[in-house]
Amino acid sequence: MFNRTTGLNILLDEILVPSTLWDRAPRHVSIALTNLCDLHCAHCFAPKSSDALDFNQVKDWLGELDINGCLAVGFGGGEPTLYPRLVELCRFATQHTRLAVTLTTHALNLDNQLLADLSGNVHFVRVSMDGVGATYEALRGYPFSMFLDCLDTVRYIAPFGINFIVNNHTLQYIDAAVKLAADVGAAEFLLLPEQPVRGFGGIDEITTEGLRQWVSIYKGPVPLTVSEAGADGLPTCNPHPSETGLLALHTLMRQAA
Ligand code: SF4
Repeated sequence: MFNRTTGLNILLDEILVPSTLWDRAPRHVSIALTNLCDLHCAHCFAPKSSDALDFNQVKDWLGELDINGCLAVGFGGGEPTLYPRLVELCRFATQHTRLAVTLTTHALNLDNQLLADLSGNVHFVRVSMDGVGATYEALRGYPFSMFLDCLDTVRYIAPFGINFIVNNHTLQYIDAAVKLAADVGAAEFLLLPEQPVRGFGGIDEITTEGLRQWVSIYKGPVPLTVSEAGADGLPTCNPHPSETGLLALHTLMRQAA
């Protein structure tokens, strides 16, 4: 059972369903709508070209995913607010499918019109923030005070979380970031250990170990999640023990009391 508005999942497992009867679609699918972005973050691997997906093609995919049992779709990029028909797409997904719609964004383009148009057509927003204050400004090249103003408006669309890229530069700021997440009412803090792309970047072993230790003593109020690619060695919960691999975008971590 899945409620796309609250995100509540309930697995009823008294009766074991043969794997041949399992839904064929992944539980969650992420779609990079466009490669465009108006920022130049130091750790970014997006190609920053003007390539974008065809609107009707994405609509068809959403229909197929819905019919085949997918629970949620996440729109990202690049920066998805630069996709010209984002609102139309979110509206289609919420009105014509049963999919939950999530949006991953830097949040800096959310003006009043976009906020109003997306409200009710997105179920969860993930906002990228890899540090606070001067650290954010150095990484994202944007005034932190203006980011905070934007962050303050995201709640008018839907519940929101913070995405945090973890690497040897950002780990030292994770306490400040998670405290801010709690202060602004974030519902989730998503750890994204940096992955090497085309031979560049990637979290190193020392930082990975530091992250494991940080997670092991975390007692904050904001639930932690982690990307599957970076979950190795972290105390993740697997609600589907019969599956090989998590087959999901995010793994809910054990939250300290
Ligand atoms: S906001 Fe995201 S897509 Fe844009 S430059 Fe930064 S990391 Fe890349």
